[in-house]
Amino acid sequence: MIETILTLEQTELLQQLEVVSRRYQKRDQRFERIQDHYRREKAGFNGEKQLDYYLKLTPLSQACQLAALRLRAGDHYFQIDRLVLTRSACYVIEVKHLSGQVYFNKARQFIQLSNGNQRSYPDPLNQVQLQSNQLAMLMSDLGYFQLPIHPMVVLSHDQVLLNDNEHEDLILIQQLPERLTVLDQRYQVITTFNQIRKLANRLKQLHVKKQEDVLAKYDIPFSEIQVGVHCRHCKKGHVIRLHGNWQCPVCKNKDDDAHLDALLDYRKLISRYITNKQARYFLKVDSPYTIRRLFLKAQLPFRGKGKHTQYDLNTLI
Ligand SMILES: [Zn+2]
Repeated sequence: MIETILTLEQTELLQQLEVVSRRYQKRDQRFERIQDHYRREKAGFNGEKQLDYYLKLTPLSQACQLAALRLRAGDHYFQIDRLVLTRSACYVIEVKHLSGQVYFNKARQFIQLSNGNQRSYPDPLNQVQLQSNQLAMLMSDLGYFQLPIHPMVVLSHDQVLLNDNEHEDLILIQQLPERLTVLDQRYQVITTFNQIRKLANRLKQLHVKKQEDVLAKYDIPFSEIQVGVHCRHCKKGHVIRLHGNWQCPVCKNKDDDAHLDALLDYRKLISRYITNKQARYFLKVDSPYTIRRLFLKAQLPFRGKGKHTQYDLNTLI
């Protein structure tokens, strides 16, 4: 079993794109671009999730793994989709979630041919090599210079056709368990599992989550974000506050806690903290007393006094 040190999570970008694609009001080109971006991010995430499954099937013992590890190198950052550490080597895995036919052309561009459309991507083997070089420098700073680093590219889409047999480090995801096992037998054991786990935890400490601001990225004013609480039952209606409860005018469902999802949207998109006034606007509630009651019931920690009181939404995550 490979021990997981850093678990795969949805990125801030993916979470924000999901909220914006639900709450952006206009149906313009910007909306199309956001939807497209959301679909691509989600596909990428699903591809990386597949890795969890195949790594579980890999019979490596005394090994660790870290998902979506983002590290600093001087004044910039680099990200490794998946890092597998054994007592013999470090495997830097780049995941490509592409469907259709993929191959290298003579100029060494990576080409995807899907539904009659041709698209070129930067050489993924070169990409993962660059990440490996940066990791090598960092590991040497940490005193782990002797551990060999082996880069590889994994194609995770089940509708991919790999048209290349020259590069043994470009593989289909189904081949990963076998490939890792064979490779790891080729390398010599040079350290202990204790050391490997220590290194994995050190790298986890150095991991820096990427901060995102999708509204700024797409230049969307907050006023164009739809406010209100959605029905969690039919997903269609906007619930309204009636006799101390949320009621959906479409499906007539009653839901005590429907506002929690809306507050979570606010947390993902706008800010960790919210005031009573901001909550009244976002939840479309007139009464400050109602908001106060909802916050008390959700046991949100707060700071400040009076109308400046800020409630912490992080506990809802
Ligand atoms: Zn409903």
